[in-house]
Amino acid sequence: MSEFSPETIRPETIRPALDSIRARIATAAQGRAVTLIAVSKTKPVAAIEAALAAGQLVFGENRVQEAAAKFPLLRAAHPGLALHLIGPLQTNKAREAVALFDCIDSLDRPKLADALAAAAERAGRMPRLLVQVNVGDEPQKAGVSLAEADGFIRAMRARFGERLRGLMAIPPLGEDPAPHFRTLVAMADTHGLPVRSIGMSDDFETAIACGATEVRVGSALFGARHAPQ
Ligand SMILES: *Cc1c(COP(=O)(O)O)cnc(C)c1O
Repeated sequence: MSEFSPETIRPETIRPALDSIRARIATAAQGRAVTLIAVSKTKPVAAIEAALAAGQLVFGENRVQEAAAKFPLLRAAHPGLALHLIGPLQTNKAREAVALFDCIDSLDRPKLADALAAAAERAGRMPRLLVQVNVGDEPQKAGVSLAEADGFIRAMRARFGERLRGLMAIPPLGEDPAPHFRTLVAMADTHGLPVRSIGMSDDFETAIACGATEVRVGSALFGARHAPQ
């Protein structure tokens, strides 16, 4: 797995980091349930195993190929493991993604919905889905645009029913994320969707204060990523 991490992972640092993140989540959540997604992209299997040993069962990866290389054996050893795809998905990888992930958090266009529906039919299994919203309306960024979001979410709800669980967003870098988090949460409220996946290492407490139900934490848990993502 050397291609995933040029730096040395020290598994013994992962348990204390996890404990500290859990404590911060609990404080921010004030009794609400918030799921921690441990983002293990670029990190080796040893790091994921250390997190599993510390009781972490929910993981996020942003690339299908990398997840396919790292997770099947871990899954066999840990039946409770849940894996999220948090990165953009190409339609030609939909079949593999449907087989591999429990949750696909980056549904953002009709062609991908078609590919996922076809893949799910063949596989006899459909992961849980989140619509990714481009809350900052940034050009080149994944996610459905704000202008198209309501129509797209309604269409996905009609198509996938209860498999569509909620919304995901990544606010623009270098801006106050709170207004963007609130936009996402308001949209989820409007559509009656329970899951709001917002917040990363630098802003997960803010996201929880704004109504996050899932936070995606990578570097604060596993250390900085040196490899390009
Ligand atoms: C990498 C990534 C994260 C985690 O980022 P950190 O800042 O390392 O916590 C969260 N969400 C998505 C979509 C990512 O690609």
